[in-house]
Amino acid sequence: MTEVAVGAKLTLERADFPGLFSALAGAGYEIVGPTVRDSAIVYDRIHGVDDLPVGWTDKQDGGKYRLERRADAALFGYNVGPFTWKKFLYPAHERLWTARKDGTSFTVAPEPVDGPPLAFLGMRACELAALDVTDKVFQGGPVVDPGYRTRRARILRIAVQCAQAGGTCFCVSMGTGPGVRQGADLVLTEIVGDGPHRFLLEVGSPAGAAVVARLPSPPSASPKSDERVAHEIVERTARSMGRHMEADGLRDLLKNNLEHPRWEVVANRCLSCTNCTMVCPTCFCSSQEEVPDLDAEKVERWRRWDSCFNLAFTELHGASVRKSGLSRYRQWMTHKLGTWHDQFGTSGCVGCGRCITWCPVGIDLTEEVAAIRATPGATAGKGGKT
Ligand code: SF4
Ligand code: SF4
Repeated sequence: MTEVAVGAKLTLERADFPGLFSALAGAGYEIVGPTVRDSAIVYDRIHGVDDLPVGWTDKQDGGKYRLERRADAALFGYNVGPFTWKKFLYPAHERLWTARKDGTSFTVAPEPVDGPPLAFLGMRACELAALDVTDKVFQGGPVVDPGYRTRRARILRIAVQCAQAGGTCFCVSMGTGPGVRQGADLVLTEIVGDGPHRFLLEVGSPAGAAVVARLPSPPSASPKSDERVAHEIVERTARSMGRHMEADGLRDLLKNNLEHPRWEVVANRCLSCTNCTMVCPTCFCSSQEEVPDLDAEKVERWRRWDSCFNLAFTELHGASVRKSGLSRYRQWMTHKLGTWHDQFGTSGCVGCGRCITWCPVGIDLTEEVAAIRATPGATAGKGGKT
């Protein structure tokens, strides 16, 4: 195996891309990446280049998503779909522990967390930023989620810089993309239509270097011209964002406008379907339930994803704290863009646009923020991107 330095910039030819799959398998990783299913690009176990969405792209707008054929055979020529990486770190339905009767008491056994290390192939800059956010939520405070911590410690992050912006993307507004700045073990920039189909491959960590060292055809050092092309690709993407949201003073703007008439307008459209929270890479609310067996020998505790849009989610002493759609939408948006800062020191939004695309009635948080901001007398407060 060849020695590979962290920070190395290499050129990986398209013809040699299958070698990345064998290198990852040789290093003990199962690969999770984008693949086409049910007319969408989703994340699942993949085994080779043919599983990737070769030659597909996605067109997105408020409440709209469709796949279209590209004129080329790009492997990563799409933006983001309805799935996020969180389901591999924080499963949608998970047993947490089992208690078994032990004489007059119970013995509680936490659920073991097993499975191979996973290579996340195709993470976008906004998704790396979302991973930073969920790290803060699940393992950044005094109480750590053991399942998340164990799974998170085993992943390899292979990022792809976006070569196009989706119709609902606004990562530039949130300062999370489209260029990958940190947090990836390997970073790929796909160069297609400018000479031979190839990738700029940047090595971000020793774990990434170990995988590159296993490539069957060692990549060459990249010419400066490829670095320039990659830079131009990211710049072009940044200039073509589908959405924009003015993030300065957002926390105070929302806090100062809790009785704004706009909440009623949006509540009249909102179906409380929970889609926006299910597709969001940072939403983390869950419910827990105890499931006893019939002979009272054993009880299991299960956790499943839940949503602040569900009426029962805030049920206390027989009544919900947020009875109206207005209060539930307001809670979601003010938490996501405002009070998340107080809890976790960061915004809860990375600008991926999924909640806009997958809202069946096209409710758009960038539009709602703009409407509130445009109201005479709406005060944003001072300060940075809060
Ligand atoms: S709130 Fe919407 S745009 Fe922001 S991270 Fe969640 S899904 Fe993406
Ligand atoms: S904002 Fe849209 S996606 Fe979210 S709960 Fe309401 S209707 Fe569903």
